[in-house]
Amino acid sequence: MDEAATSLLAARLTEAGTVLLGRSLAVRHVDAGSCGGCEISLAGARVLRDGLTHHGVVLVDDPRAADVLLITGVATHALAEAVQRTLAAMAPPRFVVAVGDCAVDGGVFKGAPTVLGGAEQVVAVDLLIAGCPPSPRRIIAGLVALLEANTAPARPRQPRRPKGQKRIEPRA
Ligand code: SF4
Repeated sequence: MDEAATSLLAARLTEAGTVLLGRSLAVRHVDAGSCGGCEISLAGARVLRDGLTHHGVVLVDDPRAADVLLITGVATHALAEAVQRTLAAMAPPRFVVAVGDCAVDGGVFKGAPTVLGGAEQVVAVDLLIAGCPPSPRRIIAGLVALLEANTAPARPRQPRRPKGQKRIEPRA
């Protein structure tokens, strides 16, 4: 992994968060039926040198303190309500990011009887980050794309998808 590129991405994330929110970003993560792989990637994004934590982006337990609801996992029937209740507790502007192929559309578990088939089956999603799992850098890049799209001049402050960038495609 290119540490300089990761550092630059994380710095842009902090800057965009400060423009949009007046502070750095607070993220509430909900596991909606993950195998754990996406959590490992998320942890990597946090603890990388010059990663999320270094740039002030924090994971919070209280959804009322969160700006981003980050969902991993397939969205099972059993966990759908937990996702919806978490989002309902968050104040706008708020964003929903689905991380990993499972959260995008159910991934390899698509069609299983307990699986709804991705976060969009449960709540409106602003950004999908594909990958099984997506790399830590790709998670950071997705958050950057979302925030920068919403901090662009003359754009409304309503949560919305980055124009034409709903899915973050992998780099080489
Ligand atoms: S996308 Fe892959 S790594 Fe992430 S929860 Fe699904 S199977 Fe696991």
